[in-house]
Amino acid sequence: MDETFYSTLLRSLDGQTGYLSRLLKSWADVNTGSYNSNGLNRFISLMREAFKTLPAKMETVSLPAQTMLRPEGKLSFPLGKALSVKKSVEAPIRILLTIHYDTVYSADHALQRCQETDQNTLKGPGVADAKGGLLVLVEALKLFEASPWSDRISWEALITPDEEIGSVGSTPLILEAARRNDLALVYEPALPDGSLVGTRKGSSVYSALIRGRAAHAGRNPEFGRNAIHAMANFIVQMQDSFNPHPGIILNVGETFGGGAVNVVPDLAYFRFNIRSQNPDDQILVNSVIEKLSDGLNEIDGFKVEISQDSSKPPKVVDHGTVKILDHFVSCGREIGIDIKWGNSGGASDANIVAAVGVPTVDGLGVRGGGLHSQDEYVLTDSILERIKLSALFLMKLAHGDIKLPANH
Ligand SMILES: [Zn+2]
Repeated sequence: MDETFYSTLLRSLDGQTGYLSRLLKSWADVNTGSYNSNGLNRFISLMREAFKTLPAKMETVSLPAQTMLRPEGKLSFPLGKALSVKKSVEAPIRILLTIHYDTVYSADHALQRCQETDQNTLKGPGVADAKGGLLVLVEALKLFEASPWSDRISWEALITPDEEIGSVGSTPLILEAARRNDLALVYEPALPDGSLVGTRKGSSVYSALIRGRAAHAGRNPEFGRNAIHAMANFIVQMQDSFNPHPGIILNVGETFGGGAVNVVPDLAYFRFNIRSQNPDDQILVNSVIEKLSDGLNEIDGFKVEISQDSSKPPKVVDHGTVKILDHFVSCGREIGIDIKWGNSGGASDANIVAAVGVPTVDGLGVRGGGLHSQDEYVLTDSILERIKLSALFLMKLAHGDIKLPANH
């Protein structure tokens, strides 16, 4: 009897793909680059509208500004607001659903508006990463709340404005929310074949400023301390130290320094990203960075300053998470989709949540591709499919067909 009831509820969504794609398009057309305060604020009102029919309390949470070491020194960048939506009813099972609404596309990026490129493809900024996932999250909750077992789960949704810049402001909120829930669902896009995400690499970002001493390159080069040479050495030595550890990936992504070539440059600036596989890698990374900076600071005339801008630990898959992933695979089978789970090199807020020890399923968002590029797209038939997947899981969990792993 319940099987039929599940499917009747799920079928109520059929035929809504057109409506859902138009809604997604209207969301993605609003620029929400991580530093675009106006766009982020505008988007909050769209979210309030989207969540308003749910029996929940909404609250916007201001985040502290991000401080970043830049060539000019420490600068501060305002962040958008997080939106917390908490179901008003207390229930024995508590679930956190989370996703970000910022995108990598700044207000002056070339890609600003969506375009339908064929019947099943909507191209546009953030359509997959992660506004498509946000739509899945909201609609799955609506469908679940329409079911007769809705009073058995109390959920909270946390929608964040800074994931694409390392969740620098929202990390404490995410941690708090993770600790008070039994399970976390993260709506980052699915892997290209539709798989959910198991493990993710850790990711940390650093900014470094090296000051040397200016001098005439020909007349008194010995007086100079070449900050760019020091930076180059620093980078090479860092890479050499990581070479024996294939799980650690270094990417220097931004450099700045110098001016006229006949002047020994007294300033060099660089930012780098480190990806890691094992929770212990971060300890090694930090000790390498510390050793190299201490070494450089000991040389007369050099001064190096390094700041860690953000850090997410690797996401490992624990026993509890495997069980939940398997339940999603069975739910997928019931609605006729073959779901697997795989691993990703990218980090997400699931890394933060999972570190608390809560079973965490990620990649529940839409299928698509071209993430972070000019060609980002969503396959629009996946919107409905993914809403059904999450809603079915929630209904089964509430009804007792799925049990949460004990002692997570
Ligand atoms: Zn994302």
